[in-house]
Amino acid sequence: MQINLSNAVKFESRHNGPTEAEIAEMLEKIGASSLEELINQTVPESIQLTRPLDLPKAKLESEFLADFKVLASKNKVFKSFIGLGYYDTIVPGVILRNVLENPGWYTAYTPYQAEIAQGRLEALINFQTVVMELTGMELANASLLDEGTAAAEAMTMLHAVKPREKKNANRYFVDEKVFPQTKALLVTRAEPIGIELVFGPISSLDLTDPELYGVMFQYPNGDGAISDYSSIVAAAKENKVLTAFASDLLALTLLTSPGEMGADVVVGSAQRFGVPMGYGGPHAGFFATKEEFKRQIPGRIIGVSIDRAGNKAYRMALQTREQHIKREKATSNICTAQVLLSVMASFYAVYHGPKGLKNIALRAHGLAKLTATALSKVGLNVADHAFFDTIQIKMNEVSRERVRGLALGANINFRYEADSIFISFDETKSLEDVKSIVNIFATEEGKHTLTLDKLVEGLQLELPAALARKSDYLTHPVFNNYHSEHEMLRYIKRLENKDLSLVHSMISLGSCTMKLNATAEMIPVTWPEFSQLHPFAPMDQTLGYQELFTNLRTWLTEITGFADTSLQPNSGAQGEYAGLMVIRAFHMNRGEGHRDVALIPTSAHGTNPASAVMAGMKVVLVKCDEKGNIDIEDLKSKATEHKDDLSCLMVTYPSTHGVFEEAIQEICATIHQYGGQVYMDGANMNAQVGLTSPGRIGADVCHLNLHKTFCIPHGGGGPGMGPICVASHLAPFLPGNPLVKTGGELAVSSISSAPYGSASILPISYAYIAMMGGDGLTNATKMAILNANYIKERLAGHYPILYTGSKGRAAHEMIVDCRAFKEVGVEVEDIAKRLMDYGYHAPTVSFPVAGTLMIEPTESETKAELDKFCDALLSIREEIREIEEGKADRVENVLKNAPHTAKMVLTGEWTMPYSREKAVFPIAFVKEGKFWPTVRRIDSAYGDRNLVCSCIPVEEYATETELA
Ligand SMILES: *Cc1c(COP(=O)(O)O)cnc(C)c1O
Repeated sequence: MQINLSNAVKFESRHNGPTEAEIAEMLEKIGASSLEELINQTVPESIQLTRPLDLPKAKLESEFLADFKVLASKNKVFKSFIGLGYYDTIVPGVILRNVLENPGWYTAYTPYQAEIAQGRLEALINFQTVVMELTGMELANASLLDEGTAAAEAMTMLHAVKPREKKNANRYFVDEKVFPQTKALLVTRAEPIGIELVFGPISSLDLTDPELYGVMFQYPNGDGAISDYSSIVAAAKENKVLTAFASDLLALTLLTSPGEMGADVVVGSAQRFGVPMGYGGPHAGFFATKEEFKRQIPGRIIGVSIDRAGNKAYRMALQTREQHIKREKATSNICTAQVLLSVMASFYAVYHGPKGLKNIALRAHGLAKLTATALSKVGLNVADHAFFDTIQIKMNEVSRERVRGLALGANINFRYEADSIFISFDETKSLEDVKSIVNIFATEEGKHTLTLDKLVEGLQLELPAALARKSDYLTHPVFNNYHSEHEMLRYIKRLENKDLSLVHSMISLGSCTMKLNATAEMIPVTWPEFSQLHPFAPMDQTLGYQELFTNLRTWLTEITGFADTSLQPNSGAQGEYAGLMVIRAFHMNRGEGHRDVALIPTSAHGTNPASAVMAGMKVVLVKCDEKGNIDIEDLKSKATEHKDDLSCLMVTYPSTHGVFEEAIQEICATIHQYGGQVYMDGANMNAQVGLTSPGRIGADVCHLNLHKTFCIPHGGGGPGMGPICVASHLAPFLPGNPLVKTGGELAVSSISSAPYGSASILPISYAYIAMMGGDGLTNATKMAILNANYIKERLAGHYPILYTGSKGRAAHEMIVDCRAFKEVGVEVEDIAKRLMDYGYHAPTVSFPVAGTLMIEPTESETKAELDKFCDALLSIREEIREIEEGKADRVENVLKNAPHTAKMVLTGEWTMPYSREKAVFPIAFVKEGKFWPTVRRIDSAYGDRNLVCSCIPVEEYATETELA
């Protein structure tokens, strides 16, 4: 037998589901003679790319990981004392392996289907409880993207809720000691919506200013100082001025909470609760406020409700607040957040408990205090304010530079500012580190170093009385029962087992592209060379990252057919905002700053109008025709009507209806003709890669959801990344950062706190592109289109399929119309819930069309999996027919009662008119590996009426009275 030495399996054939034989079978089923023919029937010829993607040759998995280790080693992991909201932390092994590195957690979707998401919903309730109790507030959300954006959301929310007396007040005072990256974000977000920012020392704050509606402090502040703000907050209240605090959860285990000082909002980052610094992210930003603002709070809130049997069940609360519903009336565009990282932070709090957290805080404080005392003894000028973990040493430039040299020699990073050095401590630091630091400063001063033993013995927690925390926190059993590793492991597993994720079955969420998140892509994320870098570490310690960024930008630029890319935005919605701010800056730079109308088709995702309003634009809706395409006549008439103030069009391509609109080039040309720019929402990029591109269709800027098309897992609702790619005329305006030079010559102010957003998950997309190569990526797109059209063919005749292209083909997703079933009382939601009994997560429900399901299989699913999913949907169709034909009851049927739990079919008397077997084993394949939903249909309205968003004693809800 001949041996072929290059027969290793290409990554492409692991990522793309269908085999050659399956491709042939599927093509036959859909009546296309070849893949090429199918693609030509789907993607209009006029926009097809004329040359293959110019990307490096595909690598094998093993080859990639070996090469990537070399790149990673160009990053240098120094000890970080930089602080500024990013601290080194110890990720407990049990959380690292069983959450961060576990696809059971990281491949889950946002918990819209709450009955099969009770595990992460419980973890998120725990997160909210941690935030609420430590900040002393009544309500918290389940994360925002980072501390800076959370602070910006506080500024805009307070603006929206300001009292009547302050109706016309637009001034927001920000203490100059707030972190610089946060200040930059406030600048970005304030200006377009007409908020006037005032930065200054607190001594300059004039609370009687009638224009002033809000004030923001940082506690502890950027210098590390802690002060009692209660009298200022009280005075603010008297003057109808609202207050926001940025704070630090670890510090709050020792300090009086902002809530106790009277704060209206508290924001911050939960990073140091066991989430690696990752060169800037991803981390969970938190946001806590008062109950009275519950209808204005941004982001997702998890609440407690009951299921049909009266059992406690969690689900997302108050969803009418979200931009999906509010659209241009929304004040926030947050969609993808930081669920996986909030889950990690919550488990960190569960694992350590209140005493453990306090000990961690005490140690960080103790080391800081020891260092301050020792350095004073060496004769240094240590600032004498009260502090938590950060000390300030005042120093002239010459001495400072000498310290810098010595510290770098010892692999240590401090924070250097105009006349000071700052040193921040965290749980990874030890007495040895204090010795090195004292040694460095003593050497600089030409003195002998000190022995620390005496000072260590004398260490005491002595905070000013007003600042020493007296209130309890985290008293609920969940924070006190799982401190042994065995108990913790089992708690994590118990929650994981309640959730359906990609480890169980395909999740065909239209518009969300739930494709394979390959293990080889995930492995580098937790390499220390990527995970342990501080975002403001010196450039020459981050050369591996810089190389990664340069390559990834080049590749994404090539894929989109544009000229440059910014890796800063942390989600698709942030990308939209960034892109619109770039367009805005472009118009302003040409003296056309008055252009402020954004045309948005009615079919657009809710984030589009929300982002446009945040960028200071006026939204003008463009109609869609009965096929779901943009109504060209309406577009032309709106563009003409607004020709003098047209800023841009926001368009999703292929459309949110899953169709490559043939008129797209004409649409783009029309906008350009009237002086506008074209923003392409890149959520559907999975249908374009290698076949066409935003550049090719004539757009000017797009975002890419790396957590959709480029394999970053959804994490149960985040993290994500939303880089923007732009044509050359927009490149000068790509966003910057106040501390690290990024972006263009005329950069707009920051979009995220960190210069490269959530840098530590970029290796995932990098790995995907490097292992697929140009051909592999293009084949993936073709497979995605093939898989969608195969499902369409299998469902056709059973369910009406809405909106196909002119040649009858779907793009990478399709819409199944379920509205006709209403006649027999079956809602689209019933089908979504019934799919759970078959072991499937529902497709996208009621977007972009109410009463429909949007199915996107992606390229990663095999024909066998597609067939199982289709079999389930066809079987459900028969179950509906039984109702239609009067064979099944209109109320007590398998759809209305779905999902069925083990408890329901195993306990008590069975009174349903259908069998238990039909309820839970409706089709043969389910028996092979039944996934059991753990609660019955959840009553969302009940939970909204009785809003509870933190841990509550279990007994209160477990009534079980209505159990069948
Ligand atoms: C997912 C999606 C968005 C929002 O992206 P996030 O990453 O969740 O912020 C915007 N538009 C469309 C069409 C989407 O599918």
